[in-house]
Amino acid sequence: MSKPKVAFYWCASCGGCEEAVVDLAENILKVVEAVDIVFWPVALDFKRKDIEAMPDKSIAVTFINGAIRLSEQEEMVKLLRKKSQLIVAFGSCAHLGGVPGLANFWDRESIFNRAYKTTPSTHNPEGIVPQEKVTVDGKELTLPKFYNTVFRLDQIIDVDYYLPGCAPPPDLVMNAINAILEGKLPPKGTVLSPNKSLCDDCKRNETKPEKLTIKEIKRPHEIMLDPEKCFLAQGVICMGPATRTGCGERCIEANMPCRGCFGPTDQVIDQGAKFLSVLASIIDVNDEKEIEKVMDTIVDPAGTFYRFSLPSSLMRRKRMPSVADNEK
Ligand code: SF4
Ligand code: SF4
Repeated sequence: MSKPKVAFYWCASCGGCEEAVVDLAENILKVVEAVDIVFWPVALDFKRKDIEAMPDKSIAVTFINGAIRLSEQEEMVKLLRKKSQLIVAFGSCAHLGGVPGLANFWDRESIFNRAYKTTPSTHNPEGIVPQEKVTVDGKELTLPKFYNTVFRLDQIIDVDYYLPGCAPPPDLVMNAINAILEGKLPPKGTVLSPNKSLCDDCKRNETKPEKLTIKEIKRPHEIMLDPEKCFLAQGVICMGPATRTGCGERCIEANMPCRGCFGPTDQVIDQGAKFLSVLASIIDVNDEKEIEKVMDTIVDPAGTFYRFSLPSSLMRRKRMPSVADNEK
């Protein structure tokens, strides 16, 4: 009997999710024994034309990591959707937009200006920026279109399951692969991690006072962090109350607060707004000026509360005159 076919693809991301597959360690041998990997550009030399030649729905499952930023990524995920029975959004960027999604605070032009003209290490006196088409020696060269907006995967194609995390931990990845191989899948659309908040599983939760209040906010490097005590009770921003559990509290275990990479639970639409509401309920100052003073101590609040989820937020992106509402 032929083995189920599996594919992996990488869009706008750092590559950490590909590492998460390698982090399966010896379990990867079990996976390779059970499936045929038919496409994995980061590791194996298959080409786009190999996928194009496959019959529709002939791949059992494709794991796609990364957000969608380029026209090429859109073309590839649409092709993989056509060829796959199941699509799993793998990791924070495919699930929610992730760190690349923070670029939705700018537009293409300002990103190009910064990256290709004004960074201190750039020497570009002619101000050359990437073009979609250039002619060199009479030959036309093309590049994919760089969109104005970053999208999470299910804003571009239909997605069956979501594996959260930056990057998803190996045990969740293995559980998902086993569930797929055994045909024991939950309903379509499920995020493959428990639907409760990180605080519910965090050992430090019991150190939270009954009425948690803070008068000032500190960054982790500004105080000696108590390794036992709830970060919020120490006045340090921890996204635990607005974040789904399932990572094994790996940052907390390393004495660093949660940054929110697992995204919110099913009950929460907007992770950043949820955290803002948590913060509003615990800041213990009433005077408007004092509140402003406390809020001013948060460096980059939007970037902190939406670090992994800006394209999934109710805002989706910053409104800018240069970007029409429905424009890519
Ligand atoms: S806020 Fe952070 S440290 Fe405190 S209980 Fe929740 S996850 Fe743990
Ligand atoms: S503690 Fe938070 S940021 Fe760290 S891995 Fe878990 S969900 Fe992600």
